Amino acid sequence: MVTKKELVSYSTDASRIKGIAERVVFPKDVREVEDIIKTPATDIVPRGAGSGLVGGVVPNNSVVVDMTKMNKVLEFNSGKRVVKVEAGITIRELNEKLSSRGYEFPIDVYNQGISTIGGMIATNSTGDRSMKYGTMKDWVDGVEYIDGKGEFIKATKADIGEVCGMEGITGIIVSAKLRVIPLVKRSISVYQSDNIDEVLSVARRLKAEKEVIKLKLFSKYTSKLLGLPEKYNLIIEFDSEKRGKVTGAEYEKVLNLEKRAYYGLASEGYYNMEDPKFFFDKIREFLNFLEASDIPYIGNLGSGIIHPFFRDDEKSKRERVVDFIRTSQGKPGKFGIGIVRKYFVDPFDMTIIQRVKLRHDPYARMNRGKLIGEMSSGKRYSMTPGVKEKIMEIKPSPLEEKSARELVKNTVEISTPKSNGFENSDSPEEKMHAFIKEVSKENITETKKEEFYKPEVKETVKTDPIEERPRPKSSVDYNLINKIMNNKYNPSDKQGLSKEPPASIDKKTENRFSDNSNKPRTSESDRDAINKIMTNRFGKGFSNNNSNKEGRSND
Ligand SMILES: Cc1cc2nc3c(=O)[nH]c(=O)nc-3n(C[C@H](O)[C@H](O)[C@H](O)COP(=O)(O)OP(=O)(O)OC[C@H]3O[C@@H](n4cnc5c(N)ncnc54)[C@H](O)[C@@H]3O)c2cc1C
Repeated sequence: MVTKKELVSYSTDASRIKGIAERVVFPKDVREVEDIIKTPATDIVPRGAGSGLVGGVVPNNSVVVDMTKMNKVLEFNSGKRVVKVEAGITIRELNEKLSSRGYEFPIDVYNQGISTIGGMIATNSTGDRSMKYGTMKDWVDGVEYIDGKGEFIKATKADIGEVCGMEGITGIIVSAKLRVIPLVKRSISVYQSDNIDEVLSVARRLKAEKEVIKLKLFSKYTSKLLGLPEKYNLIIEFDSEKRGKVTGAEYEKVLNLEKRAYYGLASEGYYNMEDPKFFFDKIREFLNFLEASDIPYIGNLGSGIIHPFFRDDEKSKRERVVDFIRTSQGKPGKFGIGIVRKYFVDPFDMTIIQRVKLRHDPYARMNRGKLIGEMSSGKRYSMTPGVKEKIMEIKPSPLEEKSARELVKNTVEISTPKSNGFENSDSPEEKMHAFIKEVSKENITETKKEEFYKPEVKETVKTDPIEERPRPKSSVDYNLINKIMNNKYNPSDKQGLSKEPPASIDKKTENRFSDNSNKPRTSESDRDAINKIMTNRFGKGFSNNNSNKEGRSND
């Protein structure tokens, strides 16, 4: 039973748009979810952690279905490298359990402590390592959900487009089968420069490298806020412990530091952000625009997703940025559409999504007004009078503000070097090491190695030895990359960056996501259309049919 006070917290999500929750329910199993959908509620809002930024769970006099009580690992098959989980488990809970068995789920969304697998599938989430690991749909082998008619559906890989990325408008996800990988020991290097062109050319080159999985850029302002030298800082993460210079506990500290960047910006009043995704060649233009407009940003140069940040009183700045994104063919990067960004859904996509929705939710009771807005053909669909007007933006609560301030106070305290920790060292790596030493007061959650699965986890097959994939022939000049990483690269050097095309993709990797064992439920034309929508909305290279490697973006 939810108190009136608690009901208020269910009236919004991280978008801070406010609606009205009529009731909140916490199903504990599939049967209870079915029962909820079969009640005559007019609007049912599936909810994970409510960490979405686009109003995806903002209710409209709705019954909010909080899925966080369904958080079990149901089955783990190490031989097939598949884990079956309930929808309400958080990505961190899952990874803690998997790591004790030597595995991990590789989509690393930023707020891992709260994001649920159901919410991540519904929004087709992607993380900072998306240049290698793609989006959720690349890792979901099957989904079980109850659709708007109360029917239990087992979607195979071929049909997941009917629920994955649909933001809860076709049904409630109750469980999913996810592919996992053996735990990877990773490392980081940091490239620092005053010159953005230099940073972009380093990033362009590193994008072609198989072991590079993240290229995260902090603008000068965000770098300063983090206590890093006031330069462009490019964090380069490798899927190997041997390549980067920062490893082990120090590596964890850098990851932790990266994550605090968002809180640091929030504490300066930058609560709002956009997430456009651009082709690499467009990024320079967008960054120019942001800098000319004095807008702080964090960018992921691997996936092309750039986050500009805005204060509450910078609405017109934000509108100008959104206009820029739309006119330069930027796509929503990872936060989804929700109720605030429906202008990004093109009319053709909308028709297809409506068709799929009608099939699963003919009375339009599932998460009304999200993703495609009001449907004209739904039989009982109409917005409750007056509610639309009540949906309004609200200010952060004093509590939110206070916790953000405390976080940044810590950030500043630990990230300001006492003496000149950086000045005496010459390479960016050495500077980073000096810096990391200063950060050592930070608490990092150690993975509980000894902690084993909850009793409900059944292991069905023993782990097979992990086969090493041969490294594809690469056109990358490693000496040059090393020079760049060690800050010894001279851009006027005639050796320059090689003009050869990027490394080719091995056939074996191409087939990794295909699944021929299941017969599709969706009609072929719908499936093609859904695939097109997924590709349009979430970027090139992540489609099932795409011949790209491991979801790596090919723009
Ligand atoms: C600071 C910050 C950083 C973020 N970083 C990232 C990032 O790196 N990558 C990223 O992709 N996103 C990011 N997000 C956005 C958000 O955290 C993700 O979209 C996340 O996956 C949402 O999970 P959730 O459990 O909070 O879902 P919710 O916010 O509760 O729901 C999101 C959508 O999914 C639907 N939904 C939830 N559960 C179910 C279910 N069981 N069945 C059907 N539909 C369901 C909801 O109806 C809603 O439409 C970020 C958000 C914040 C605030």
